[in-house]
Amino acid sequence: MASRRISSLLSRSIASSPSLLSLGGKSPHVSRGVHRYSTAAAAAAALEVPISPPVKVELTQLLIDGKFVDSASGKTFPTLDPRTGDVIAHVAEGDVEDVNRAVSAARMAFDEGPWPRMTAYERSKILLRCADLVEKHNDEIAALETWDNGKPYDQAAKVEVPMLTRLFRYYAGWADKIHGLTVPADGPHHVQTLHEPIGVAGQIIPWNFPLLMLAWKLGPALACGNTVVLKTAEQTPLSALYVGKLLLEAGLPPGVVNIVSGFGPTAGAAIASHMDIDKVAFTGSTGTGKVVLQLAAKSNLKPVTLELGGKSPFIVCEDADVDKAVELAHLAVFFNQGQCCCAGSRTFVHERVYDEFVEKSKARAIKRAVGDPFKAGIEQGPQVDSEQFKKILRYIRSGIENGATLQAGGDQLGSKGYYIQPTVFSDVKDEMVIAKEEIFGPVQSILKFKDLEEVIARANKSCYGLAAGVFTQNLDTANRLMRALRVGSVWINCFDVFDAAVPFGGYKMSGIGREKGIYSLNNYLQVKAVVTPLTNPAWL
Ligand code: ADP
Repeated sequence: MASRRISSLLSRSIASSPSLLSLGGKSPHVSRGVHRYSTAAAAAAALEVPISPPVKVELTQLLIDGKFVDSASGKTFPTLDPRTGDVIAHVAEGDVEDVNRAVSAARMAFDEGPWPRMTAYERSKILLRCADLVEKHNDEIAALETWDNGKPYDQAAKVEVPMLTRLFRYYAGWADKIHGLTVPADGPHHVQTLHEPIGVAGQIIPWNFPLLMLAWKLGPALACGNTVVLKTAEQTPLSALYVGKLLLEAGLPPGVVNIVSGFGPTAGAAIASHMDIDKVAFTGSTGTGKVVLQLAAKSNLKPVTLELGGKSPFIVCEDADVDKAVELAHLAVFFNQGQCCCAGSRTFVHERVYDEFVEKSKARAIKRAVGDPFKAGIEQGPQVDSEQFKKILRYIRSGIENGATLQAGGDQLGSKGYYIQPTVFSDVKDEMVIAKEEIFGPVQSILKFKDLEEVIARANKSCYGLAAGVFTQNLDTANRLMRALRVGSVWINCFDVFDAAVPFGGYKMSGIGREKGIYSLNNYLQVKAVVTPLTNPAWL
């Protein structure tokens, strides 16, 4: 059976410290003797071979108060396989009433339940058990993710699920290390701060990294002792429900994590505007982030953290080793089908190496292995849905119409599913739409620059400020760029390194606040100042 063959093909050891690009960087596909397509036509032919995902869909209901339940309306919505557009499953569709039920459960679990009251060490042990269970079911979770999202199974199984496990363990480690301070005040007072959980956290996540986004949000919220209502993206509801089942198995009390599948303007808006939610964390587009912020402000003024869009520069300096720079720039933009908020989607290349860089980038894109994401060796699967697929094709057409030179790709791939040819444009100018707007697809825009000060100004001339890549061997150049770029992450001679301990977030319209690392804990804590008079000032 095809599914069994895939399972054995994909059996593997988990990298101890995976980065999102560690797969591509080491080119494991080649060493495993798997084909790459030399032409887009060869790739399209391979798309016609369907492979069944090696897993069943069981969990399609909402998780509320420790139980899997139907939506109050009884309504469901289909979730689709991006390889074909076929229905995978019908999932319970959460709406306002379901969010209300989930918030009541989370409220009760916070106000009266054991989770915020148990010792931090107990919480830590439950989080560690969650991580163990996720690790045990790594491959099923990864298969669900690939099936629902279209990303290569190899990446889901070797990078994304292990990173979820790592995040849970990282924040389990924080649970019993969160504490306040004793403050030396001016006067006869004993002053201390208590760091308390904020309460019920609403969390709204996108479809590009459903599991990572779940981990970035649940990990710190739970470590601090909060309870949660999480809404998954309507395109990718399945993997979170599986993880939800494992959280219960690990001993998480009922109501601590509630998962509501559903749509943004209904379930998402109900979370952002709920009067009984104490904090909201959102990852998604900048436009929707603004709506969430407004809803939070119009309701109970709950604090909001936002992780939004980007148009990240990847700067290749004149001293670069061109072959290495081409490979890294390629991965920076094409990884995850180009569906990364921090994708290095503006490739700035110094004029001295520009022509060679363009030629080699074109060759690399043509060689990119596109096809069924369940096949080993595939680097790029389909885009997540028809809406994204059509939007990317519109951007490609705009690049051609605006006069950029199409070097590779430029169209859909095959006639079934949402596959797009890896596309490379050269001669891209700053004012072109493809250089300004977030495409969220496999489209590389290569721009030419002459000197460092010029590229700094151009890289910063964006409403976004999420990330940047810098490729240089010159320490002074690296130092100048890392300080001058107005972005939340600078990767020097690397890209997409996402360690659990390293903060991530945006400047400007790329967001508010930071996730991961110690920084994320502050998003889920209140600080209470407690002042006690010292009746005898001599005790000071
Ligand atoms: P994209 O355009 O990439 O799909 P969105 O920002 O629209 O990204 O979606 C990210 C998440 O935000 C999803 O879970 C989606 O359902 C949710 N969402 C969309 N619209 C709203 C809204 N008006 N209020 C709250 N959440 C929303």
